[in-house]
Parts: sequence; C-alpha cells; structure tokens
Amino acid sequence: MPRSSCRASATRGTDSMEPFENPETDTLEAHAALKKVRPSWDEYFMRIAHEVATRSTCPRLAVGAVIVRDKRILTTGYNGSPSGLPHCDDVGCLIRIVDGRESCQRTLHAEQNAIIQAAYHGVSVTGASIYCTHQPCLMCVKMIMNSGIEEVHYAGGYPDPLAMELASEGGLSMVKFAPDEN
Ligand SMILES: [Zn+2]
Ligand SMILES: [Zn+2]
Repeated sequence: MPRSSCRASATRGTDSMEPFENPETDTLEAHAALKKVRPSWDEYFMRIAHEVATRSTCPRLAVGAVIVRDKRILTTGYNGSPSGLPHCDDVGCLIRIVDGRESCQRTLHAEQNAIIQAAYHGVSVTGASIYCTHQPCLMCVKMIMNSGIEEVHYAGGYPDPLAMELASEGGLSMVKFAPDEN
C-alpha cells in the first residue's frame, strides 16, 4: 500500500529503533529509495586495480594489476622493488636507457608481481583475466601469455606498440577499459 509505506518511511528512524517491526513498511517503494548504483564487474575490478596502484614504491609511475577468474580476485600486484631491495621512493630510481627509452630497472612491474604472487601461494591463473591500470609492456605481455591468462583489461595507455602487436599475434585478448556511464 503506497500511502502507508510513504508515511512509514518518512518516520523511519525517528520514533523507534526497530524500523522493520511492521513488515508492511518494507515495500517496493521504500526499497527504491534505498537502492544504490552498483558498479559493473569491469568497473569494480578496475577501481580495485587503481587502489592497488597506490602502494607503488616507484615515483615514476604507479601501476596496479588484479588477476580475476569467475568474478573472484586471485591475486594483486603493484610496481615496486623485489623483497630485500630499497624502494625507489627512498633512494631514487635506477634509470637505464632500454630500447631508446629511459626506464627504472629496479622495480618489478605490477603484472609481474601479480603473477609472482600467484606462484608464491600456489594459485593457478590459467584461464583468468588481468585488470591493469596501464597497457602492459612487452615483457609483461609475454609473461601474461605464458601464465595462462587469456584476457587483459587495461585503462591507461603505455608507449609500447610492440607489446600490442605480439599480443595480437599470440591471440591474447587486449580490451581497452570503458568506464561505467553513470
Ligand atoms: Zn623506480
Ligand atoms: Zn610491464
């Protein structure tokens, strides 16, 4: 009954600590007012990848990766130094020119750390997807291919067109992330 449900929801929480005492107050109309906008699965996992990236220890770029299968997270990774080595944030980056580009050689990439975490815990990533805040580089694409991961969702770009070429040649699905519209 809409009229009674309106009255009930208007007074909910003000006169009683037992808002569900009267089952008639739990109407569709009252539920509609409480309903949240839920993110899509892609949006959800990519948001988590961006959160993971905040743990990065290299000031040059903060990258996050999340490996997912059957809508469940298997592992996560961010770019940072191997265990036992100092953080770039503390001692500066270890810069070398590789393939004509300056890059920090101290850190493992987010995708690599997510795959390594799977090995560390003995978790198979065969048939999984990986959500990355940036397009994976060539080395990461090759590691993703051999780990058994079948699909990459990436948000930001990365200047490594050869990585895209090899992914395409090897049948690795590379999906550019499209944020939810709401
Ligand atoms: Zn660095
Ligand atoms: Zn990489």
